[in-house]
Amino acid sequence: MLSRYLTRARPLQRSTSRPFSSTNPNMVKVLAVLYRGGQAAQEEPRLLGTIENQLGLADWLKKEGHELVVTDDKEGSSSEFQKHLADTEILITTPFHPGYLTADLIDKAKNLKLCVTAGVGSDHIDLNAANTKKITVAEVSGSNVVSVAEHVVMSILLLVRNFVPAHEQIVSDDWNVAQIARNAYDLEGKVVGTVGCGRIGYRVLQRLQGFNCKDLLWFDYTDLPPDAEKAINARRVKDLEEMVSKCDVVTINCPLHEKTRGLFNDDLISKMKPGSWLVNTARGAICDRAAVKRALESGHLRGYAGDVWDVQPAPKDHPWRHAFNPLGGGNGMVPHYSGTTLDAQKRYADGTKEIIRRYLAGEDQDLANLIVFDGDYASKAYGQREKNANKPTGQKGAG
Ligand code: NAD
Repeated sequence: MLSRYLTRARPLQRSTSRPFSSTNPNMVKVLAVLYRGGQAAQEEPRLLGTIENQLGLADWLKKEGHELVVTDDKEGSSSEFQKHLADTEILITTPFHPGYLTADLIDKAKNLKLCVTAGVGSDHIDLNAANTKKITVAEVSGSNVVSVAEHVVMSILLLVRNFVPAHEQIVSDDWNVAQIARNAYDLEGKVVGTVGCGRIGYRVLQRLQGFNCKDLLWFDYTDLPPDAEKAINARRVKDLEEMVSKCDVVTINCPLHEKTRGLFNDDLISKMKPGSWLVNTARGAICDRAAVKRALESGHLRGYAGDVWDVQPAPKDHPWRHAFNPLGGGNGMVPHYSGTTLDAQKRYADGTKEIIRRYLAGEDQDLANLIVFDGDYASKAYGQREKNANKPTGQKGAG
């Protein structure tokens, strides 16, 4: 059943027109847009996804005779990102501090052949434009899916149990049990549904097995292998509105693409159960920021939690920073870090190196990592398209 995921892709053709270098005619320019770690990154070398620790790539690329430029300066035409993009062959970005690669920028990046997302989620790249230009887009698939699934379960619990306001009482020297307990519930007996049941959504359902939920539901256009479906004892619902109307908790675990941008708007949120909770660790732009705030403030949503924002870093006046339910709680928002635990960073740094190593050696890429390849979508996770109906989405099930 899963054998098609193991098929090897055709080799990536390396560029033949390379910028001249007197020392190494095969020199490749690699540009990495990473977040600034500051003192934390100096003290903690395992913070690999930072400009300071450079995904652990610096020594290796230098030894191989390639150029690595690393920056966190990513906005505007005079940014280091846009300046260096013009002659970059390999671009590394992360979803945590996304270098937004628009169609315009792709047009200007004349030497760009390979975009590597150090992590999972390549929506910050205009994938249609990458297809047009035959630029390969690869992710380190699976690298942080356990990290995110754990965060989802934590977020569900902290909302349902009204944890954040309770903790805030303690650090502000307060003590008022009734004020917290009036909006605290058990997860047992509740209905939880996931939008998207790929690597993360599936793992969330796996992790919820022990909570005796009333029902576990999933909505996805991709099938689960029968054995994987059986193992999580969850029920597929074919209509999204029907699913959200049945759920006490909805968790969003699908990529951001044309069909999911703004999916949770006033209309869909109005179909959710009054007083339900919404957890979004997928992408901020899947939820309409104003609609979420309105629903939370009216109490229609009892809580909203996640780590993803519709622009990152989130501006100080982003409405989700200060949106609360009528009882003053229900906000479980944090900066985008669920998929960048130290464990995850090791995995996505190693995976990034392996993707680049294969590219430089002219070897096949692991098909599971390819999002866009040879002018077509190599994955079907980024929206249903006729042409890619038989291509792999996330590695389903426990694998
Ligand atoms: P995956 O490719 O394994 O699974 C995605 C699933 O979503 C697929 O089964 C696909 O069919 C489904 N899907 C796509 N569009 C859908 C739609 N309209 N409705 C329902 N299902 C739909 O991906 P994954 O590893 O599970 O990751 C999912 C997403 O989570 C990523 O694309 C990324 O945006 C996000 N993510 C966030 C973090 C973080 O740190 N917060 C880290 C990793 C991934």
